[in-house]
Amino acid sequence: MSTGTINVAVENIFPLIKKFLYSDHEIFLRELISNATDATLKLKHLTNIGEAKVEYGNPVIEVKLDKEKKQLHIIDQGIGMTKEEVEKYINEIAFSGAEEFIEKYKDKQGEEAGIIGHFGLGFYSAFMVADKVEIITKSYKDEPAAHWTCDGSPNYTLEEADKTERGTEIILHIADDETEFLEKSKISELLSKYNKFMPIPIKFGTKTETLPKPEDAKEEDPAPTQEVDNFINNPNPAWTKQPTDLKEEDYKSFYRELYPMQFEEPLFNIHLNVDYPFNLTGILYFPKMTNDMNIQKDKIQLYQNQVFVTDNVEGIVPEFLTMLRGVIDSPDIPLNVSRSYLQADGAVKKISSYITRKVADKLKSLFNDNREDFEKKWDDIKIVIEYGMLTEDKFFEKAQKFMLFPTVDGNYFTFDELKEKVSANQTDKDDKLVLLYASNKEEQHSYIETAKEKGYEVLLLDSPIISHLIQKLESEKENVTFARVDGDHIDNLIKKDENTVSKLTDEEQETLKTFFTETIPSDTFTVQLEAMDSNANPFTITEPEFMRRMKEMQQTGGGGMFGMGNMPEMYNLIVNTNHELVSEILNTKTQKKKERLTTQALDLAKLSKGLLKGEQMTQFIKRSYEMIK
Ligand code: ADP
Repeated sequence: MSTGTINVAVENIFPLIKKFLYSDHEIFLRELISNATDATLKLKHLTNIGEAKVEYGNPVIEVKLDKEKKQLHIIDQGIGMTKEEVEKYINEIAFSGAEEFIEKYKDKQGEEAGIIGHFGLGFYSAFMVADKVEIITKSYKDEPAAHWTCDGSPNYTLEEADKTERGTEIILHIADDETEFLEKSKISELLSKYNKFMPIPIKFGTKTETLPKPEDAKEEDPAPTQEVDNFINNPNPAWTKQPTDLKEEDYKSFYRELYPMQFEEPLFNIHLNVDYPFNLTGILYFPKMTNDMNIQKDKIQLYQNQVFVTDNVEGIVPEFLTMLRGVIDSPDIPLNVSRSYLQADGAVKKISSYITRKVADKLKSLFNDNREDFEKKWDDIKIVIEYGMLTEDKFFEKAQKFMLFPTVDGNYFTFDELKEKVSANQTDKDDKLVLLYASNKEEQHSYIETAKEKGYEVLLLDSPIISHLIQKLESEKENVTFARVDGDHIDNLIKKDENTVSKLTDEEQETLKTFFTETIPSDTFTVQLEAMDSNANPFTITEPEFMRRMKEMQQTGGGGMFGMGNMPEMYNLIVNTNHELVSEILNTKTQKKKERLTTQALDLAKLSKGLLKGEQMTQFIKRSYEMIK
C-alpha cells in the first residue's frame, strides 16, 4: 500500500469544492456518470480498432444506493485504470483541473455563475457531497486492480485490490449534511434530469413488471409479476438519429418522452442537424401557445453529447425562439464562460443564426406545402413569428413569405396578396395604402361593420405586440399605413371616399359647431363635422392612431416618449351632418332638449367605443328607461 499527499497548491481545496456553487451540489452525479460513460465509450473504441483484445459485450452503468452504510456506488464496465493511471489521472490531472477551476471561479457570482454552474468539476465534484471517496478499478490491461481512498484531506491511500471484473467502481461516503443523496427518490430525480438520454444504459434498482396471465388462469387471479432491472435512460434519443429514419409519430413520442407532463401535442417539429462549421443536433417543437404556465416550465433543453446541461438557453437560441420546446445538443457551446461572453462568442452567434434560418425555412415550407394547415395553426404560432420579425432582421426578411394577415372574416393573406386585394379603394389622401384592422372583434364590432359596409377589408390583428410590428412594417414598406377601425386614420379614408354633399348650409354648420363645442367637454373631444351618408351613425368617436399606439407600446414595453401616467385621453367626435338626428338637434328650439339629445347621442357613441363606464353608465341607463317609459 502506498500513501501520498495530493500535490496541493491550495491547501483548502476540499472545503472550497464543498462550498462552491452551493445550489449545484447535485451535479456530482452527472459528472461521475459522464466519466463512467466516457470510460465505456473509450473501451468500445479500443476494441473497435483492435487495441483492446477484450469482449466489449453490452456494458451497463449501475448506480447503487446503500442507505444503511450511507454509500452511493457508481459502477461501470469501461476501460478502468491501472495503479499508475490512478496516480496520474486522479492524483495529478483531475486534481489540477479541479484546482485550476476553483482558482478561476471561486470569486465569481451571480450572472457569472449562471452557466459556469453547469460546468462540472469532474471527478472531484464527488467531494461536494461525500466526506470520503473510494475508487476500485481494474483496467482492461492485464494488471491488478487498484483501490484509492481519500477522506477529503489532501492525503490519499493507494493499494492493490482483488476486483476481477473490468471497470471502475466509485464509492461515495455521503457526508452527514448531504443525506438527501441517500434517498432513492432524490437519485431517481437526478438521473432523470441529467442522464435520461445518455448513450450507455444506466441501471438503478429494480422495478416490478406485470407478466401476461397464463392461459388457465381464473378471472380473479392477479396477473403474475417479476422484478426486473430498472433502466432509467433511452440511449438512442430521436435527435441522434437521421431525419430520414424518423416518422411523424416518432417525433411525437419523443416529445412525450421529453415532457411527460405535457398532454398537448406539438404543432410541428424542426430537426436540426449540422456538422460544419460547428456540431449541432436537436429537435425543436412549436407548442400551441397558451397563457398556461407550462410554457414557462417546459423549456428547450441543452445537452452536450447526450448529457443534460441546462434548460436556460438564453444567449444560445435567439430570444424569440426560447418560447419553443425541444432539445439542442452541441459540444461546441462553451459552458465554462459567463452569459455575456457567450453572447459575444463567434461560434455561438453562428449557432444562433443557423437556428433562426432553419426555423424560417421550416415555416416557409409548411406554408408552401400545406397552406390550409398553416392557416389553421397561425393563431397558435403567430406570436413567435411576430416577435421574431420584431427582433431579428434576418427573420423579418424571410417571414415576408409566410407572415399572414387574417381578416375579421377568417381569410388569410400574405402581405403581397393583401396589397393586390385592397389597392383599389383603400388609399388615403396621400395615396398611401391604408390597411384597416381591428384588435378585438367584439369591442370594435360597430366600427368593423361600418368599414365593411363601405367595402373595406378589415384585418384582425390581436397580438399584444402588434403595435410594435405595425410600426416596423410601416417603416420598412413604402406607401403603407395601418389604421385601426376605431382610429382617426379612418377619417381620411371616409372623407376621400365620400362625395356626398352636406345637407346643411355653411351657416347652419357654423351654428352646430359652436353649440357642440360648448356642450361637449373639449378636454376630451375634438368635434369634427362631416357630411356622410345619411345612414351612417350621427356620432362616431375615433381615437387618434398615434396616441393609441403610444399607449399600447408603453404597455408592452419601449417606444414611448411620454411617461406612463401622463398620456391624455383624447378622442375625435365625428358628427354626421347628413343624419336626421343632427338636423333635429340643430332645429330644436329649447336649449334643454338640444342638450338632452346631444348627451344621449354622445353616450351612445361612447357605448359603442366601450368608453361608457361608472357613473356615466348609470345615468345613461336611468335616462334611457325614462325615455321609453
Ligand atoms: P475529465 O473527465 O474532464 O478528464 P475528471 O476529473 O472527471 O476529468 O477525470 C480525470 C480522469 O480520470 C479522466 O480523464 C479519466 O482518465 C480518469 N477517470 C475518471 N473516471 C474514470 C472512470 N470511471 N473510468 C476510467 N477512468 C476514469
